[in-house]
Amino acid sequence: MFLKYIIVSMKKLMNFNLTGGETMKPVIGITTFCEYKPGKVLDEVNYNYIHSIVAAGGAPVLLPVVEREDVIEGYLSIIDGIMFTGGNDISPMLYGENPIKEVVSISEDRDYFEFLLYKKAYMRSIPMLGICRGVQLINTAAGGTLYQDINAQKENSISHSQSDTPASNLYHSIKISKDSKLYSIMGSEELSVNSFHHQSVKKTAPGFNITALSPDGIVEAIESTDKSFILGVQWHPEGLVDKHPEFLKLFKALIDASLTYRATKHSL
Ligand code: MN
Repeated sequence: MFLKYIIVSMKKLMNFNLTGGETMKPVIGITTFCEYKPGKVLDEVNYNYIHSIVAAGGAPVLLPVVEREDVIEGYLSIIDGIMFTGGNDISPMLYGENPIKEVVSISEDRDYFEFLLYKKAYMRSIPMLGICRGVQLINTAAGGTLYQDINAQKENSISHSQSDTPASNLYHSIKISKDSKLYSIMGSEELSVNSFHHQSVKKTAPGFNITALSPDGIVEAIESTDKSFILGVQWHPEGLVDKHPEFLKLFKALIDASLTYRATKHSL
């Protein structure tokens, strides 16, 4: 069995085509975060994001947190799409508020990097998918606001924190509006999703529509109303794709939009 594997791998290597062979895959930039450890700083991201992009037919590249505009321009020149990933809270000061006591983990550097990345990518019409913190990032960078803490600021909410339950488990239901890209991607008005957030979109940014709500009225998805593909979801589809493969459709939609963007970019 092992020998057969080696022979197949060797054949693949021998047939390797230096010109790239099959169609070039769209390059999807994935945002990352810094983890501060004694004596070192690591730049990292959950592998589920990488796995989902590969499974959907894209070529993932990680985008380290930087503050230099010329480096961000360098990222934008090689990517065809962006995925804004999950993580800690966006500083409420970025939407004109001081933090309430439930906001305990922010990252000034990551906020700065991702705001710039979003604004520059928007100018170029690069397709973008935001996940969890990612949807909050898109909404805030585009001029909207957030609930700093759902439990503290929104009465009668259901639980949105499945905490120790694995991300592959569905946790609460959502309703998707029929007149949306999200509906055309998922093909369903009702879905069950996972949930790992204590914040959510409050005032939707100009140029965006709410496209999914949980039963307590929390925004679970938004999307751009103009022609470009900018879509954000509050759940974690990258944690669901293996056990609930229908969620791969979201990543495939980003890949399709990125292929279209790439074709336009090269025809200019
Ligand atoms: Mn939720």
